[in-house]
Amino acid sequence: MNFKIAVIPGDGIGIEVTAQAVKVLKTVGEKFGHVFEMTEADAGGCAIDKHGEPLPAQTLEVCKNSDSVLLGAVGGPKWDTLPGSQRPEQALLGLRKGLGLFANLRPAVLHQALKDASPLKPEIIGDGLDIMVVRELTGGIYFGDRGRTEDAAFDTMKYSVGEIERITRVAFEIAMKRNKNIVSVDKANILENSRLWREVVEKVAKEYPGVQVSHMYVDNAAMQLVRNPKQFDVIVTGNMFGDILSDEASMITGSIGMLPSASLGAGKLGMYEPVHGSAPDIAGQDKANPIATIISVAMMLRYSFNLTQEADVIEKAVSSVLDKGYRTGDIMSEGMQLAGTAAMGQLIIDEIQD
Ligand code: NAD
Repeated sequence: MNFKIAVIPGDGIGIEVTAQAVKVLKTVGEKFGHVFEMTEADAGGCAIDKHGEPLPAQTLEVCKNSDSVLLGAVGGPKWDTLPGSQRPEQALLGLRKGLGLFANLRPAVLHQALKDASPLKPEIIGDGLDIMVVRELTGGIYFGDRGRTEDAAFDTMKYSVGEIERITRVAFEIAMKRNKNIVSVDKANILENSRLWREVVEKVAKEYPGVQVSHMYVDNAAMQLVRNPKQFDVIVTGNMFGDILSDEASMITGSIGMLPSASLGAGKLGMYEPVHGSAPDIAGQDKANPIATIISVAMMLRYSFNLTQEADVIEKAVSSVLDKGYRTGDIMSEGMQLAGTAAMGQLIIDEIQD
């Protein structure tokens, strides 16, 4: 099959980690007989330098004409003094809006080999963790009316049935590809919004009789994530609760260099990127962990291209390189073998080819 991918390396380590992910894509393409047609585009600080704006129109055009987008990271100290509206990070908002991406997928996977990286006790972790947080990205309190008077301020949380329905469907489709278990997180004991959220989730659930659904208040969910994270498969929730819970879920896995993410819209097109930033402190030194970006590519194959077997092969290759004791600096521990960015990428490629 033939797929068009827009590749936006961005700034700092974004450039180094996407280079490894691109190599992985090429290897998978050769192994399974697919053509991944990749077009590079500028966004972030490098785009400000070259084109005078963080998200040039031609970059958005390349993305719109692609089947998916792979993004490294944007930003860095060079552009830190620019006013908010001109900063590199505006490119992310512009891409999400321009591509209509309303669902944010943040898997929190703790590999057996990295159990020690988790701040949680081994008996809580067991043989590892695998949670998917599905967060609504373009609605709720972050986008509602807000205002301020001299001695007060307000923010409005509003969700329409349509907005809840579409994010819930994304979560159910994902659950169907996983362990068919969804926990919907809300605050329905207090918020009218959440009561509507529950009703809509229940309605959509009828279309997926094979998926088990339960509801949890957000305060309890925050507690359960550290008390007994293994009970979760897919968590679906609104924008603000998802923002907080996805960070909590990812931190129980340990390293930021291991965390992928995806943002999806109504069609198949998605944007896939590591959770981390451009890490100016280690940029250009072959120290960055490319695994978050490589697993983001696996997510692209799974969720945008429906290439499940190919995605599995990448994820298994990552696990087996970790099992063999190879580590980048951020996940290094005693007795393990240190690998740079390019070496780690190559080790994963060798596993895929095996
Ligand atoms: P960061 O994620 O870039 O770095 C935080 C720490 O984690 C650093 O010590 C860094 O060395 C380490 N780290 C991050 N990714 C790593 C990897 N793959 N391998 C090994 N170590 C890694 O966050 P920050 O320092 O707060 O931000 C730096 C810049 O990135 C800022 O300009 C920020 O705005 C931008 N940023 C961009 C995105 C994005 O593009 N999606 C996300 C977050 C931050």
